[in-house]
Amino acid sequence: MSSFRKAALNDVLHRVPKPFNFEGKISELFGQNVFHAEVMREFLTEEAYDSVMAAVNNGASIDRKIADQVASAMKDWAISKGATHYTHWFQPLTGATAEKHDAFFHPLSAGRAIERFSGDLLVQQEPDASSFPNGGIRNTFEARGYTAWDPSSPAFIIGKTLCIPTIFISYTGEALDYKTPMIKALAAIEDAALQVCQYFDKNVTKVNTTLGWEQEYFLVDKALFNARPDIMMTGRALFGHAPAKGQQLDDHYFGSIPDRVTAFMRDFEIEAIKLGIPVTTRHNEVAPNQFECAPMFEEANLANDHNLLLMDLLEKIARRHDFRVLLHEKPFKGLNGSGKHNNWSLSTNTGVNLLRPGKNPKSNMQFLTFLVNTIAAINENADLLRAAIASASNDYRLGANEAPPAIISVFLGSHLSKVLDDLEKSIKAGKMTPEDKTELKLNIGKIPQILLDNTDRNRTSPFAFTGNKFEFRAVGSSANCASAMIALNAIVAKQLREFKMNVDGRIKKGENKDEAILKELQRLIKASKKIRFEGNGYGDEWVKEAEKRGLSNLKDTPRAIKVLTDKKTLSLFSELEILTPVELHARQEIEYEAYVMKVQIEGRVMGDLAQNHLIPAVIEYQNRLINNVKGMIEVMGDKEGRELCATQILLIKDISRHLNKLKELVDTMLQERKNANKIEDMEKRAEAYCDKVRIHFDEIRYHADKLELLVDDEIWPLPKMREVLFTR
Ligand code: ADP
Ligand code: MG
Repeated sequence: MSSFRKAALNDVLHRVPKPFNFEGKISELFGQNVFHAEVMREFLTEEAYDSVMAAVNNGASIDRKIADQVASAMKDWAISKGATHYTHWFQPLTGATAEKHDAFFHPLSAGRAIERFSGDLLVQQEPDASSFPNGGIRNTFEARGYTAWDPSSPAFIIGKTLCIPTIFISYTGEALDYKTPMIKALAAIEDAALQVCQYFDKNVTKVNTTLGWEQEYFLVDKALFNARPDIMMTGRALFGHAPAKGQQLDDHYFGSIPDRVTAFMRDFEIEAIKLGIPVTTRHNEVAPNQFECAPMFEEANLANDHNLLLMDLLEKIARRHDFRVLLHEKPFKGLNGSGKHNNWSLSTNTGVNLLRPGKNPKSNMQFLTFLVNTIAAINENADLLRAAIASASNDYRLGANEAPPAIISVFLGSHLSKVLDDLEKSIKAGKMTPEDKTELKLNIGKIPQILLDNTDRNRTSPFAFTGNKFEFRAVGSSANCASAMIALNAIVAKQLREFKMNVDGRIKKGENKDEAILKELQRLIKASKKIRFEGNGYGDEWVKEAEKRGLSNLKDTPRAIKVLTDKKTLSLFSELEILTPVELHARQEIEYEAYVMKVQIEGRVMGDLAQNHLIPAVIEYQNRLINNVKGMIEVMGDKEGRELCATQILLIKDISRHLNKLKELVDTMLQERKNANKIEDMEKRAEAYCDKVRIHFDEIRYHADKLELLVDDEIWPLPKMREVLFTR
């Protein structure tokens, strides 16, 4: 057996769970490493505390003097926890997080030094940011980038470093990150929703967006990970025949979690809890070695920071347990991919979840208003939502094995669907009589709270109502949730603004408020019918039906992200002051580039593995067969020798066929890559990578996987799928 593969398997066989002991109460650890409100109360003056809270709750700005106080308190707290360094923690458009560590330590003169951290250093920094994607923004002006403190997300300590969540912008003020537009999108929807809430409850003074994500991931033993250059470099297996035992038996789902994995999970959950991430559920997912982690939902900006932190933690802690985490959306062909469901809702400062059916007609009208406006927003902007979840890696997942299709639709469940259909029908044209209104309100009041338990669990829908929230399921496991959240919150904000304008318009014309709202809801229900789909999103019939309805089915990233610079998109984001046209163009450019880079790396690794690992092993085995046939003919004579070696000869031929095809396709792919690289325009280059390069991957893999079945197991150089997936 290839020595690398053998050594890896040997390592895995001898693994024992890393002992992990924690006695005591988990609850006492919660938020231990976070500079949260309680700690601030202790460490800050009342004035500074109030100032920070105003920033958290209403986005108020913090003045320099207060910033100095906060910085000094943060430093004292962090040092008391053993921290020696601090960093601005930000979310560049690479998808990962970035940080640059500086020491508190500051030498004054010979033999004298202090620990220093001022308001200046807290509020703003200038990291060397030239290596982060900027889509041309920085080149044209000034190469500098700035990070600026986001007081709405608390600072935290990892290891010995105080991490301060920040936004990341260019010298000229353009956003170079996810957090900046995320904060703006949240402000837009929260304001729009607040305005609409006033129709129903004047006591509401603030609306919050809530996000509860569910993170799926795979675990692979570190030795096997290292023995698979494809998994190591691209996050997914480019080759490998499906194991005889896949997920057909569904025995992994909710099955018992192996000891080594349990030890890892306990370890990382405790680290997450210390960072204030409210992780609660853990279980196996459908595919072998696939798991999920879902914390309690939180305010969206914080929830997103927590998701990014958790992705980091997963990787760090997995290494402690000799695992590697795969966050890729589709590490293994033929098995379920990994998503990151974004559960999303809006809630008021009076404690009302705006997407939860209420107890009386008024609260149900409010519920219906937010429900219908969300559906209308999706209907009007489905392509933008699709673009927000597009990535080279998510392309492999959408529409394959138990993953939502690339067609955006909304699932409501039969009960709620009927409620909307009835509402549409029962609102008559013309002026409503008091009796009409009473009857309608009575019916609306009957939308039962039991809806929560009643909702069908249609897992095939990309965007489903699940009783008291929407669940955006098409988001990829490796993505920054902000991308999806920026788009979703922006389009719903825009829709709510329009709704408010239209209802106000009707009221001005003499309709009373309830009537105006109902009429407007009726109009939206009618207009957005085509986006609602209750059936099986995995079926081919849906593809046909969706086409008939005029819904887009954008299967790949280069096509999906075109919409980012459409007139409609540019004006939507400008109007809401979330992203400027310059920023949107830059973002699109960055995504084209990222797509090209990812496919390019896959192509290179694929070519290298085929040429330098697989083909030599295959030829070695073939030579063995040839020598065997030669020997037989020598002993038995030509005729009998050939007769007796019929199987070997067939094998030799079979192998040759696949070998030739493999080599031919790899060469073609290489040539196409060269051609694509000559294309200057990034959009066109991305299309070429999609249509001319990536298109060969499946076929290349097909022949390689056939060869895996033909060649002696002893010789095969790469750990096989069954080994990667089932060894623990
Ligand atoms: P599943 O989708 O796995 O069946 P649930 O529907 O019970 O699980 O919940 C999924 C996630 O929804 C949880 O992580 C939870 O935090 C989140 N969630 C629940 N209520 C809300 C809400 N109002 N806003 C945002 N997320 C929510
Ligand atoms: Mg879910």
